[in-house]
Amino acid sequence: MKRREFFAKTGCGAAGIMLAHFGLKAGTLPNAPEEQKEKIMKLLAKMGKSQEEIDNMMKKMKETLPMVKEQCICKTCPTYVKEEKVVGFCHPLISKSEIITEERGCDCPKCPVYKKMEMKNGYYCTRMSELEQEAAKKA
Ligand code: SF4
Ligand code: SF4
Repeated sequence: MKRREFFAKTGCGAAGIMLAHFGLKAGTLPNAPEEQKEKIMKLLAKMGKSQEEIDNMMKKMKETLPMVKEQCICKTCPTYVKEEKVVGFCHPLISKSEIITEERGCDCPKCPVYKKMEMKNGYYCTRMSELEQEAAKKA
């Protein structure tokens, strides 16, 4: 489905297209996953989503997280460091790294997930997920 059609059908906007694709697998997230999950739920509520919409979005996140982790190319990016084990920083419920601090180029635009999700940002490891970066622009 084209991006425009997606918006028209769901009314979800840029955040929606991300959330429609991303997933969360409970218990597999790094960096205080429950805290990040709460943060995203609050962000969605602030964006005007109903509890039902938030629940549906969180469910979709669970379904797509394995694909994001599988296809992520962070480990071959110049910014990635050997001490880091996490991938998929663009995912709203993984978000930024607690280890990576120096930006040395971002390979995200070359990633199949980036293309599939029609993302606009980058440096998710240091600047937070696509959803959070987009929300910050509108704040
Ligand atoms: S867009 Fe970037 S952070 Fe997201 S899966 Fe691809 S390489 Fe990883
Ligand atoms: S999020 Fe972008 S900059 Fe960070 S490691 Fe992944 S590809 Fe590199």
